[in-house]
Amino acid sequence: MAERNQFDICVVGGGLAGGLAALALEARGFTCAVIDAQNPAAMRGQGFDGRTTAISYASARVFKRLGLWDGIAPGAEAIRDILVTDGRAKNRFDEGAVSTFQLHFDSRELGDDQPLGWIVENQLLRETLFDAIAAAENISMLAPARRASTHYESAQAVTALEDGCEITAALVIAADGRFSTLRAEANIKVNQWRYKQTGIVATVAHERSHHGVAQEFFLPSGPFAILPLTDNRSSLVWTERSDAAPAFLALDEKAFQKEIENRFGPYLGVLEVVGGRWSYPLAFHLAQSYIAPRLALIGDAAHAIHPIAGQGYNLGVKDIAALADVLLEARELGLDIGSEGVLDNYQRWRRFDSAALALGTDLLNRLFSNDIGPLRLVRDIGMGAIGRVAPLRKIFMRQAGADLGKLPSLMAAEH
Ligand SMILES: Cc1cc2nc3c(=O)[nH]c(=O)nc-3n(C[C@H](O)[C@H](O)[C@H](O)COP(=O)(O)OP(=O)(O)OC[C@H]3O[C@@H](n4cnc5c(N)ncnc54)[C@H](O)[C@@H]3O)c2cc1C
Repeated sequence: MAERNQFDICVVGGGLAGGLAALALEARGFTCAVIDAQNPAAMRGQGFDGRTTAISYASARVFKRLGLWDGIAPGAEAIRDILVTDGRAKNRFDEGAVSTFQLHFDSRELGDDQPLGWIVENQLLRETLFDAIAAAENISMLAPARRASTHYESAQAVTALEDGCEITAALVIAADGRFSTLRAEANIKVNQWRYKQTGIVATVAHERSHHGVAQEFFLPSGPFAILPLTDNRSSLVWTERSDAAPAFLALDEKAFQKEIENRFGPYLGVLEVVGGRWSYPLAFHLAQSYIAPRLALIGDAAHAIHPIAGQGYNLGVKDIAALADVLLEARELGLDIGSEGVLDNYQRWRRFDSAALALGTDLLNRLFSNDIGPLRLVRDIGMGAIGRVAPLRKIFMRQAGADLGKLPSLMAAEH
């Protein structure tokens, strides 16, 4: 007979969203199982994910309140300024390559010595989450273990793993990423398209200090982001046309470095690419519903967006914090945490907010990833206007900090 295990919540997917969700919900008194198809030892490895994440200052509050920030802080570089430049050519040294329109977001304008966020390597985030899960009394991590099926009963959901084990829970959380099979099996439709762009990711060490400045240089093929890291290093997210990306990825070390130097310009002095290169095909996925009976979608399973504004995971963090509030309140009222009414509160809180941001980032990418004269004019006028109006700049900074709208208790500022 199959082994059955009973939990309050079964989280499918132990990525950055699923791992944090289990910790946030355990901190609210729920027992959780986390299932991931991949081996945690491989997921902790250096080659698994070369990305960094811009953690907004509101998301950082969640990590702090869950006691996770102390492990992250030594490897987190504060973002003091964001500099956005409309570029014209792929080589910064070309004549007229840099538009005169620049936008400068200065964290000092927000007061309180509050950085706009932090850049953290995904490997460190993952390790911190896995260590905390291993130490948590009421979380069981089952990995590598692939979910085979889930069936929903009147009072519980039963998730079967490929190894025959069964997990019963009042609620299943789909944190199984942009190609969520839980979402598909629940017949939730998705608005999706590909960007024909690939995110090339690498890390460079450099001679001069970045002074905590994140740069986004808009090139016709897509944004080229230089994100400050600890120890005089920066992380690149180089958005390239998907048909051109394989050739760049196949370059030898010297030629790859040259391409990067051309795009960086000289402001950080001598550069050296350190570590590997990664590539991520970019696409948009927005679920038309974030809930189904006994099922809640979070993270990329609900919304996977363009990395142009570094907000994808931050949206997931807000999902998790909102869900934690909704489920805690339901339990205190004696309600079934998997019931339609309870899950509807989660959906009403998160769906419009994340859809607006997802579509906003899509628009931003369409507006900037081209060299079309009239569009260039529109964006340059827009950048000029935002750059001159301090309240508008502050709204953009608070948006980047994920500090707008109704904030869940794990994210709200202390007063
Ligand atoms: C180039 C790039 C740069 C980015 N930069 C930023 C940034 O600066 N800031 C930001 O906020 N966001 C950023 N993002 C977005 C961010 O990386 C994602 O939103 C985030 O990683 C999604 O995490 P997730 O846990 O939802 O999904 P995933 O990481 O896809 O995790 C899903 C997990 O589910 C597991 N799984 C799937 N199916 C099953 C199954 N059947 N059984 C068991 N397990 C299963 C998988 O093994 C996987 O571990 C960036 C994205 C890209 C591509």
